Amino acid sequence: MKKSYSIILATTNQHKVTEIKDILGLDIEYQTLSDYINISIKEAGRTLLENSLSKAAFAFKVSQKPSLADDSGLFVDALNGAPGIFSARFGKNDEHRIARLLKEMTDEHNRRAQFRAVFVYYYDINKYEVFDGKCIGEITIKPRGAQGFGYDPIFIPKGFRKTFAELGPKVKNRISHRAKALKKFKKYIERLLL
Ligand code: IMP
Repeated sequence: MKKSYSIILATTNQHKVTEIKDILGLDIEYQTLSDYINISIKEAGRTLLENSLSKAAFAFKVSQKPSLADDSGLFVDALNGAPGIFSARFGKNDEHRIARLLKEMTDEHNRRAQFRAVFVYYYDINKYEVFDGKCIGEITIKPRGAQGFGYDPIFIPKGFRKTFAELGPKVKNRISHRAKALKKFKKYIERLLL
Protein backbone atom coordinates (compact mmCIF):
# COMPACT_ATOMS: atom_id res chain seq x y z
CA MET A 1 0.00 0.00 0.00
CA LYS A 2 1.28 3.49 -0.86
CA LYS A 3 1.66 5.40 2.38
CA SER A 4 2.07 8.63 0.44
CA TYR A 5 -1.44 8.33 -0.98
CA SER A 6 -3.85 10.75 0.60
CA ILE A 7 -7.61 11.14 0.53
CA ILE A 8 -9.64 14.10 1.70
CA LEU A 9 -12.57 13.02 3.84
CA ALA A 10 -15.28 15.56 3.08
CA THR A 11 -17.04 15.37 6.41
CA THR A 12 -16.92 17.39 9.60
CA ASN A 13 -18.60 14.65 11.66
CA GLN A 14 -15.76 13.25 13.80
CA HIS A 15 -17.73 10.05 14.54
CA LYS A 16 -18.00 9.35 10.82
CA VAL A 17 -14.29 10.07 10.29
CA THR A 18 -13.40 7.53 13.01
CA GLU A 19 -15.77 4.93 11.55
CA ILE A 20 -14.47 5.44 8.00
CA LYS A 21 -10.82 5.01 9.08
CA ASP A 22 -11.65 1.95 11.21
CA ILE A 23 -13.66 0.26 8.49
CA LEU A 24 -11.19 0.97 5.68
CA GLY A 25 -8.12 0.01 7.70
CA LEU A 26 -5.91 1.36 4.90
CA ASP A 27 -2.35 2.54 5.44
CA ILE A 28 -2.84 5.87 3.70
CA GLU A 29 -2.90 9.49 4.78
CA TYR A 30 -6.31 10.96 5.55
CA GLN A 31 -7.01 14.67 5.54
CA THR A 32 -10.27 16.42 6.19
CA LEU A 33 -11.80 19.43 4.56
CA SER A 34 -10.92 21.52 7.62
CA ASP A 35 -7.22 21.08 6.71
CA TYR A 36 -8.00 23.30 3.71
CA ILE A 37 -10.96 25.52 4.48
CA ASN A 38 -13.00 26.49 7.49
CA ILE A 39 -16.60 26.19 6.33
CA SER A 40 -19.41 23.71 6.70
CA ILE A 41 -21.07 22.61 3.48
CA LYS A 42 -24.82 23.14 3.25
CA GLU A 43 -26.80 20.11 2.15
CA ALA A 44 -29.22 21.31 -0.49
CA GLY A 45 -29.71 18.17 -2.58
CA ARG A 46 -32.86 16.06 -2.91
CA THR A 47 -31.07 12.73 -2.59
CA LEU A 48 -28.16 11.23 -0.66
CA LEU A 49 -26.28 10.99 -3.95
CA GLU A 50 -26.78 14.67 -4.83
CA ASN A 51 -25.51 15.67 -1.39
CA SER A 52 -22.47 13.44 -1.33
CA LEU A 53 -21.56 14.33 -4.90
CA SER A 54 -21.64 18.05 -4.17
CA LYS A 55 -19.57 17.56 -0.98
CA ALA A 56 -16.99 15.43 -2.78
CA ALA A 57 -16.75 17.79 -5.77
CA PHE A 58 -16.30 20.76 -3.45
CA ALA A 59 -13.56 18.98 -1.46
CA PHE A 60 -11.76 18.11 -4.70
CA LYS A 61 -12.02 21.71 -5.88
CA VAL A 62 -10.45 23.21 -2.76
CA SER A 63 -7.79 20.52 -2.26
CA GLN A 64 -7.09 19.32 -5.83
CA LYS A 65 -6.83 15.86 -4.26
CA PRO A 66 -9.08 12.80 -4.48
CA SER A 67 -11.90 13.13 -2.00
CA LEU A 68 -14.37 10.82 -0.36
CA ALA A 69 -17.72 12.13 0.84
CA ASP A 70 -20.70 10.38 2.32
CA ASP A 71 -24.27 11.30 2.94
CA SER A 72 -26.38 9.06 5.06
CA GLY A 73 -29.68 8.89 6.85
CA LEU A 74 -32.29 6.84 8.62
CA PHE A 75 -35.36 5.94 6.55
CA VAL A 76 -38.38 4.81 8.60
CA ASP A 77 -41.10 2.84 6.78
CA ALA A 78 -44.02 4.03 8.90
CA LEU A 79 -42.95 7.65 8.39
CA ASN A 80 -42.81 7.24 4.61
CA GLY A 81 -39.02 7.31 4.64
CA ALA A 82 -38.58 10.24 7.06
CA PRO A 83 -36.29 11.60 8.38
CA GLY A 84 -34.25 10.29 5.40
CA ILE A 85 -32.02 12.93 3.86
CA PHE A 86 -33.12 15.32 6.61
CA SER A 87 -31.82 13.00 9.38
CA ALA A 88 -29.18 15.49 10.55
CA ARG A 89 -31.70 18.36 10.49
CA PHE A 90 -34.57 16.56 12.25
CA GLY A 91 -33.82 18.31 15.56
CA LYS A 92 -31.20 20.54 17.14
CA ASN A 93 -29.12 17.66 18.59
CA ASP A 94 -29.12 13.85 18.79
CA GLU A 95 -31.32 13.83 21.91
CA HIS A 96 -33.97 16.02 20.28
CA ARG A 97 -33.84 14.10 17.00
CA ILE A 98 -34.35 10.79 18.83
CA ALA A 99 -37.16 12.19 21.01
CA ARG A 100 -38.96 13.55 17.95
CA LEU A 101 -38.66 10.30 16.04
CA LEU A 102 -39.93 8.20 18.95
CA LYS A 103 -42.83 10.61 19.45
CA GLU A 104 -43.83 10.32 15.81
CA MET A 105 -43.67 6.53 16.21
CA THR A 106 -45.91 6.41 19.29
CA ASP A 107 -48.39 3.48 19.03
CA GLU A 108 -46.89 2.53 15.66
CA HIS A 109 -46.53 -1.25 15.31
CA ASN A 110 -44.52 -1.18 12.10
CA ARG A 111 -41.04 -0.33 13.44
CA ARG A 112 -39.12 -1.24 10.26
CA ALA A 113 -36.38 1.17 9.18
CA GLN A 114 -33.10 1.27 7.34
CA PHE A 115 -29.90 3.27 7.42
CA ARG A 116 -28.56 4.17 4.01
CA ALA A 117 -25.19 5.60 3.03
CA VAL A 118 -23.96 6.85 -0.33
CA PHE A 119 -20.26 7.53 -0.78
CA VAL A 120 -18.77 9.45 -3.68
CA TYR A 121 -15.07 9.16 -4.48
CA TYR A 122 -14.23 12.16 -6.63
CA TYR A 123 -10.81 11.93 -8.28
CA ASP A 124 -10.80 14.41 -11.18
CA ILE A 125 -13.05 17.04 -12.72
CA ASN A 126 -16.41 15.31 -13.32
CA LYS A 127 -14.81 11.92 -12.65
CA TYR A 128 -16.21 9.99 -9.74
CA GLU A 129 -17.39 6.61 -8.49
CA VAL A 130 -20.41 5.88 -6.28
CA PHE A 131 -20.58 3.25 -3.50
CA ASP A 132 -23.73 2.61 -1.49
CA GLY A 133 -24.84 0.47 1.42
CA LYS A 134 -27.88 -0.13 3.57
CA CYS A 135 -28.60 -1.78 6.88
CA ILE A 136 -32.14 -2.85 7.67
CA GLY A 137 -33.56 -3.10 11.17
CA GLU A 138 -36.13 -1.81 13.63
CA ILE A 139 -36.75 1.25 15.77
CA THR A 140 -36.90 0.62 19.53
CA ILE A 141 -39.52 2.01 21.91
CA LYS A 142 -36.87 3.69 24.08
CA PRO A 143 -33.20 4.65 23.54
CA ARG A 144 -30.69 2.01 24.71
CA GLY A 145 -26.89 2.08 24.90
CA ALA A 146 -24.25 4.78 25.01
CA GLN A 147 -21.86 4.06 22.13
CA GLY A 148 -21.86 5.44 18.60
CA PHE A 149 -23.72 8.57 17.53
CA GLY A 150 -26.92 9.89 15.99
CA TYR A 151 -29.81 7.43 15.99
CA ASP A 152 -27.65 4.48 17.16
CA PRO A 153 -29.49 4.14 20.54
CA ILE A 154 -32.85 3.49 18.82
CA PHE A 155 -31.81 1.23 15.93
CA ILE A 156 -31.63 -2.57 16.20
CA PRO A 157 -30.05 -4.13 13.10
CA LYS A 158 -31.79 -7.21 11.69
CA GLY A 159 -30.59 -10.44 13.31
CA PHE A 160 -29.63 -8.74 16.59
CA ARG A 161 -31.45 -7.90 19.83
CA LYS A 162 -29.27 -4.94 20.79
CA THR A 163 -29.12 -1.42 19.38
CA PHE A 164 -26.07 -0.13 17.49
CA ALA A 165 -25.30 1.91 20.62
CA GLU A 166 -25.24 -1.29 22.72
CA LEU A 167 -23.42 -3.41 20.15
CA GLY A 168 -20.47 -1.01 19.86
CA PRO A 169 -18.05 -0.25 17.01
CA LYS A 170 -16.67 -3.76 16.47
CA VAL A 171 -20.05 -5.16 15.46
CA LYS A 172 -21.45 -1.96 13.97
CA ASN A 173 -18.45 -1.44 11.69
CA ARG A 174 -18.93 -4.94 10.29
CA ILE A 175 -22.62 -4.70 9.40
CA SER A 176 -23.58 -1.03 9.07
CA HIS A 177 -24.69 0.84 5.94
CA ARG A 178 -21.32 2.65 6.02
CA ALA A 179 -19.42 -0.65 6.37
CA LYS A 180 -21.21 -2.15 3.37
CA ALA A 181 -20.56 0.87 1.14
CA LEU A 182 -16.95 1.19 2.27
CA LYS A 183 -16.24 -2.48 1.62
CA LYS A 184 -17.05 -1.79 -2.03
CA PHE A 185 -14.88 1.33 -2.01
CA LYS A 186 -11.99 -0.55 -0.39
CA LYS A 187 -12.05 -3.19 -3.11
CA TYR A 188 -11.97 -0.45 -5.73
CA ILE A 189 -9.19 1.62 -4.17
CA GLU A 190 -6.97 -1.34 -3.28
CA ARG A 191 -6.82 -2.30 -6.94
CA LEU A 192 -5.53 1.20 -7.74
CA LEU A 193 -3.03 1.32 -4.89
CA LEU A 194 -1.37 -2.05 -5.21
P1 IMP B 1 -25.10 13.57 7.14
O1 IMP B 1 -24.75 12.37 6.31
O2 IMP B 1 -23.89 14.25 7.70
O3 IMP B 1 -26.06 14.47 6.46
O4 IMP B 1 -25.83 13.08 8.46
C1 IMP B 1 -26.70 12.05 8.45
C2 IMP B 1 -27.37 11.93 9.78
O5 IMP B 1 -28.00 10.65 9.77
C3 IMP B 1 -26.43 11.93 10.98
O6 IMP B 1 -26.27 13.19 11.54
C4 IMP B 1 -27.18 11.01 11.92
O7 IMP B 1 -28.17 11.73 12.58
C5 IMP B 1 -27.82 10.01 10.98
N1 IMP B 1 -26.91 8.87 10.79
C6 IMP B 1 -26.20 8.54 9.69
N2 IMP B 1 -25.49 7.43 9.90
C7 IMP B 1 -25.75 7.06 11.17
C8 IMP B 1 -25.28 5.99 11.98
O8 IMP B 1 -24.44 5.14 11.60
N3 IMP B 1 -25.78 5.94 13.22
C9 IMP B 1 -26.69 6.84 13.70
N4 IMP B 1 -27.13 7.86 13.01
C10 IMP B 1 -26.66 7.98 11.73
